[in-house]
Amino acid sequence: MNNSELKPKLVFDYFSQINKVPRPSKKEEKIIAFLQKFAEENGLPCKVDEAGNVLITKGATPGMENKPTVVFQSHMDMVCEKTSDRIIDFENDPIETYIDGEWMRAKGTTLGADDGIGIAMEMALLTDDSVAHGPLECLFTRDEETGLTGAFDLMPGFFTGKYLLNLDSEDEGEIFIGCAGGANTEITLPLRMTELRKSYFPLHICVDKLTGGHSGDDIDKHRANANKILVRFIAQAMEKYDVKLVDFQGGNLHNAIPRNAEAVIAVPFPDKENIRVDFNIFASEIEAEYSNEKNVHFFLESAVGVTECVEDEQACQIIQALLAVHNGVYEMSVDLPGLVETSSNLASVHFTEDKVMKIVTSQRSSIGSQRIAMSQIVSAPFKLIGAETVTGEGYPGWKPNADSPLLKTVTATYEKLYGKQPKVRAIHAGLECGLFSEKYPGLDMVSFGPTLRGVHSPDERLLISTVDMVWQHILEILKTIE
Ligand SMILES: [Zn+2]
Repeated sequence: MNNSELKPKLVFDYFSQINKVPRPSKKEEKIIAFLQKFAEENGLPCKVDEAGNVLITKGATPGMENKPTVVFQSHMDMVCEKTSDRIIDFENDPIETYIDGEWMRAKGTTLGADDGIGIAMEMALLTDDSVAHGPLECLFTRDEETGLTGAFDLMPGFFTGKYLLNLDSEDEGEIFIGCAGGANTEITLPLRMTELRKSYFPLHICVDKLTGGHSGDDIDKHRANANKILVRFIAQAMEKYDVKLVDFQGGNLHNAIPRNAEAVIAVPFPDKENIRVDFNIFASEIEAEYSNEKNVHFFLESAVGVTECVEDEQACQIIQALLAVHNGVYEMSVDLPGLVETSSNLASVHFTEDKVMKIVTSQRSSIGSQRIAMSQIVSAPFKLIGAETVTGEGYPGWKPNADSPLLKTVTATYEKLYGKQPKVRAIHAGLECGLFSEKYPGLDMVSFGPTLRGVHSPDERLLISTVDMVWQHILEILKTIE
């Protein structure tokens, strides 16, 4: 297949134009100007809000004037990742695409089909004379990837339609009708340090090379949390020995399941061999519990230069609180089987140089009130030990509505076209739709799109045949919607 054979031609033509326009997150000026020029050249009304979101509108085609206004939406920015040997300036250079069998890929970079293919479909809807449609509002949002900034700052009233189709999903044949809201809870506790007596033997213990993953999408995949694993060992050891807690460093990103954690503890000299045996037994128990963690690696070695440790009572409180704090799935959805409704992730635990324990946790739920409750539950054990806990404002979720009229049209048209039911799903992570639902109460939304794999990495690829499938589906929705 070569480029000129791609279907629908107009969509792929626009996609190749878009890929010549640099658009890293937070640097969307060029793509905004490109869309403004496109609107002007085609005589279409266009406005840009203070946040940089763009809205291009088009009236109904003849005979379709009584159809409701439909909003299509995609985000303008892209994640700019490349292979180590690829030389590119993402702020100035184009993305170079090529066809690899049934996939479209980019040379050593992210492809930007997330969400450039959505932009291209909207541009084609706005200019393809053969498409019959009611009034159209095409919304292009800014900076989805690094903070949902455009959606956060979108003004209520910027668009008027009651139906919104978000084109930022990655599995053809799946219709998304909900997402999770989230907030981080951060915990701080000044450490009370005391001298470590010479009769104690310091040990450095570590668990690493766990799978990790996204703290929303992957929270139900039985991935081990490195912080939890290490705390569990220390708690067990405290039952048997007079363990001193010296240091703890685990996890990194607030939205990732931690892959590694390390601690320094100390035990009385006579126990140093026993605890080594216990650690080896513990490691094999964890390996048996988590057969999916194929690469997990444990090690224990003597530590040097240790002169102080956390005071006994506080060390015990810290370990018990970390042991007690909820981590992982908390509740599954009743409405959508298989969907995680509420969860929390113990993302990072660090003792700082100025002797403060800093913990970052993140809570998610598709129900706002449950997310707030989850943050309180996570805070509780730390409040009990006198730590300060602060839950951020976070971002809202999008509660699935299985009775949505838009969803009925979207599924019925899909069945009519393809003779099978699409999967109706929600995701346990944030989408811009959560913010739209907060600003436009009553807005009826779905999210779908062609199949993408490897997004946010240089392996990003677009399954070419699914673009036409989604395109045909959109045309059928526009014809049918009431
Ligand atoms: Zn996206």
